[in-house]
Amino acid sequence: MEWEVITKARRGDEAVPNLESYDKARAEFSWEAARAALDGLPGGGLNIAYEAVDRHVAKGRGDKLALRWLSKTGERRDFTYANLAAESSRFAEVLRRLDVGQGHRVFSLMGRLPELYIAALGTLKNGSVFAPLFSAFGPDPVRQRMELGDATTLVTTPSLYRKKVKPWRHELPDLRNVLLVGDEPPVEDTIDLATAMAECDGSMPCAAMEPDEMALLHFTSGTTGKPKGAIHVHEAVVAHHATGRFALDLHPEDVFWCTADPGWVTGTSYGIVSPLTNGVTMIVDEAEFDAERWYAILRDEKVTVWYTAPTAIRMLMKVGPELPQQYDLSRLRFMASVGEPLNPEAVVWSQEAFGRPFHDNWWQTETGGIMIANYAAEPVKPGSMGRPLPGIEAAIVTHDDGGAPEVVDAPMTPGELALRPGWPSMFRGYLHNEARYRKSFAGGWYLTGDLAMRDADGYFWFVGRADDVIKSAGHLIGPFEVESALLEHPAVAEAGVIGVPDEMMGEAVKAFVALKPGYEADEKLRKELLGHARKRLGAAVAPRAIDFRDVLPRTRSGKIMRRLLKARELGLPEGDTSTLESGA
Ligand code: ATP
Ligand code: MG
Repeated sequence: MEWEVITKARRGDEAVPNLESYDKARAEFSWEAARAALDGLPGGGLNIAYEAVDRHVAKGRGDKLALRWLSKTGERRDFTYANLAAESSRFAEVLRRLDVGQGHRVFSLMGRLPELYIAALGTLKNGSVFAPLFSAFGPDPVRQRMELGDATTLVTTPSLYRKKVKPWRHELPDLRNVLLVGDEPPVEDTIDLATAMAECDGSMPCAAMEPDEMALLHFTSGTTGKPKGAIHVHEAVVAHHATGRFALDLHPEDVFWCTADPGWVTGTSYGIVSPLTNGVTMIVDEAEFDAERWYAILRDEKVTVWYTAPTAIRMLMKVGPELPQQYDLSRLRFMASVGEPLNPEAVVWSQEAFGRPFHDNWWQTETGGIMIANYAAEPVKPGSMGRPLPGIEAAIVTHDDGGAPEVVDAPMTPGELALRPGWPSMFRGYLHNEARYRKSFAGGWYLTGDLAMRDADGYFWFVGRADDVIKSAGHLIGPFEVESALLEHPAVAEAGVIGVPDEMMGEAVKAFVALKPGYEADEKLRKELLGHARKRLGAAVAPRAIDFRDVLPRTRSGKIMRRLLKARELGLPEGDTSTLESGA
């Protein structure tokens, strides 16, 4: 099926897009100018937390609502920029009194609680390094990452501490401080955060850092193997700020909702830093996905910009396009998606359900910020990731192992997606893994490990992860294309596609499918799906076999773990499953 390009008309009451013309914005952009849009500390130096909160207070915008927190139980807590500035200073002082110094790693292990945001900003203010973890990680994944990250301090809740940290706590002698959030009786060997904060007055100044000093430590999702610890520095804030303006079209008047878990890079770059540096009001919802709750939040909080992920969008699609029509979502101006390929079906569906498309964008833990995107004022090609941001040079390259990459100019020819290093949020290393870091660069390019194509208009199209691509009878098949075709069938809620060894073809395409409610996983449907895929894709690319599953294995950031589907199919060891969502 050919998908129609979505061109957009602006409603009269909408903000003028930050990027009105792609070509013009690219021609005019420079990172120097983007740097100048931020302030730096009054006495010199740079700090992400200063740009996120203190700067607004210094400019007289302290009373503006910065963060509205919605609890699972319907409670609401509001924080102005001045509140966040003061609370984060208190947290920084708590760290200083505990002798947690610059460069020391402070981990968080908790859900979306206000203290998480205060801890993140306060850690940065103290010049320490913030390293967030998924609260749903089991004890082993938590320990592995804290060990690799040389944790000195952990902020968590009493119950998470008891379940996931206490059993091994004393085997990590460097872990000196455990700060607990929540009003429970004192727990041995820990510090009650509220009590410690009450002793501080909020006047501690922000640490003046060098632009290239370490600020954030983010672990990759572990989709393709053992998670890597990506190092980010304070000047990343320049990219967080600029990419939020261009790719998410953030304006100070916006109410912005990023649904990402704080344990994942999106939860920091676009769940904390970018919205705050752009001076918006951000919504934080403590609860997990629930279609009705989500639509009610969009309506009641008058959300204008919404950033979510394909998994969530597919869950909304499963519920149907009628539900959102029962809510007044007229304030919603811009919707974006990241984390996994966004199937064209989902873009077209959102156009029907919301009257506007989801804007796919692409980036990685390593890039620290959005690199390729569809923009508010530019046409959207469903199924495409969009075009590189101003200041970002991207190309499709081919390279033999060890050889210098060659740029592929021919349109729609698959190769590895490569980026020219030099933007501020580029990672500066994998912690304790210099060799793996060096392997990511060749001939002046950063190699992303993803395969993609570029069309004649400069739009990029995701093909698959290099590790997931299937070689069948001389064809190179990207799982994304096959999964998207299956998703067009009304019965299919989710699909994961792998290659399995085949004597004749080298590899044969095999699909795993989860069905929407009300469909029977029987032989008749299997045949129908095989036929549908063959009609859509041709016999060479269509799956030879389809298995039904209740759920597909996913990472905690919502990515289908194809390597696990494959290992299970072939009876091979499962490898690192520390990020696997439970029950999958
Ligand atoms: P690991 O590197 O440990 O295997 P990961 O690559 O899943 O895990 P992340 O950095 O969280 O860890 O994810 C980045 C990857 O997610 C990208 O390299 C890409 O494969 C995928 N991705 C993100 N956004 C998109 C998108 N819009 N379209 C297609 N793929 C995407
Ligand atoms: Mg990766």
